[in-house]
Amino acid sequence: MNRTQEPSFRESVDIMFDRAVEIMDLPPGLKEKIRVCNATYTVRFGVRLRGEIKTFTGYRSVHSEHMEPVKGGIRYASAVNQDEVEALAALMTYKCALVETPFGGSKGGLCIDPRDYDEYEMELITRRFAYELAKRDLIHPSQNVPAPDMGTGEREMAWIADQYARMNTTDINAKACVTGKPPHAGGISGRVEATGRGVQYALREFFRHPEDIVKAGLEGSLKGKRIIVQGLGNVGYHASKFLSEEDHALITTIIERDGAIFDDHGLDVEAVRNWIAANDGVKGFPDATYLENGAEGLERECDILIPAALEGVIHLDNVDRIKAPLIIEAANGPVTAGADDILRSKGCVIIPDMYANAGGVTVSYFEWVKNLSHIRFGRMQRRQEEARHQLVIDELDRLDRHLGDAWSMTPEFKDKYLRGADELELVRSGLDDTMRTAYQAMREVWHSRDDVPDLRMAAYLVAIDRIAKSYRAKGL
Ligand code: GLU
Repeated sequence: MNRTQEPSFRESVDIMFDRAVEIMDLPPGLKEKIRVCNATYTVRFGVRLRGEIKTFTGYRSVHSEHMEPVKGGIRYASAVNQDEVEALAALMTYKCALVETPFGGSKGGLCIDPRDYDEYEMELITRRFAYELAKRDLIHPSQNVPAPDMGTGEREMAWIADQYARMNTTDINAKACVTGKPPHAGGISGRVEATGRGVQYALREFFRHPEDIVKAGLEGSLKGKRIIVQGLGNVGYHASKFLSEEDHALITTIIERDGAIFDDHGLDVEAVRNWIAANDGVKGFPDATYLENGAEGLERECDILIPAALEGVIHLDNVDRIKAPLIIEAANGPVTAGADDILRSKGCVIIPDMYANAGGVTVSYFEWVKNLSHIRFGRMQRRQEEARHQLVIDELDRLDRHLGDAWSMTPEFKDKYLRGADELELVRSGLDDTMRTAYQAMREVWHSRDDVPDLRMAAYLVAIDRIAKSYRAKGL
């Protein structure tokens, strides 16, 4: 079988699902109910741009409503299609169950290359798309809550939130209709970094288990580990930045759209990021070797491979050349079902997407709760910690007095300072907790059952079991 004969992304997700349910004891029909995508809405809408009407195609797919609202990002890319959006929606269902965020799975996409439009045009397009989805309750605080994905970010989420609020002026929970908003528009600290941070916490947890490290044929800690990162977008950038700066791993290869660069002594992630911003690619980055065929970067020797870009990048045509003993799927679906089988037989350990990139939706959950509670995140916990905080306030007061006229700290600044520090700290520790607990749930199944050979299957088992339980509780 060559690549063209490989199953589609959605089929690949289904194959992985089937592999897991085969060994589960579920009531007849329930497997099928969980597996299928409930509905996919396709919309075509026109926007007047540059003197003519341009038609766009968008999707919002709802995979499972065993819990509501359903949750998942909106992707902007020219190759977006129904199959992809449905696969991603299914992964959202399993992901949310695995990390215990109380959501069903959904995903959206718009066929667009955001680089073709300026900011004003993007706003028009996004607002119109949001209008089309919101009027069908496909954006709604208690029914369907989008978030950023590839090609979208805080900016788009702010437009979506505002569009929804204009259409629902009496909805006191309007802000909770979307997550990933900028902090000044009801967002939460630490959401932008969340997925990359989650990848870091996932790897840290993996390296806390000597047995698991040995399974991957590795030893020691993250320090000095050679890492290949594919894609220096939001997820790849934050993951590699944190892993190199805080865990002293070496980012030896970075693969981008225009090729790959490598330096076995470790690349400076921040410098590469700045270079890409200025030069539209990695080519020419000083003190590194450039590979025009970026995909070859995936095949280099390393300890850890982090695909953080698109689905299907490790497939039947290149899988034999992949040398990484440990792969952590920061992207959704980067390994096809066929390649997954081969990697497993080679002994490669894969930390699966539905766990590895769950940091985003975890922090989205915190944001959603914050919006619904109408109280700033952590306020309750803060009350319990009042004494500790009083000490900090006293300290700030002392510093303020000491600095005198040279720099006067306003009460607002003090409050913001405390609030910011509080919220980010809470978000990070909540995320760390979530990543640890979910990993332990997966590994418990992985190690305790002879018929579960890998972490992906274990992840599916944990997730499907929880989804089945909530279907049962619903009385379906
Ligand atoms: N798009 C992200 C994902 O694939 C985030 C989803 C969310 O925060 O709802 O997990």
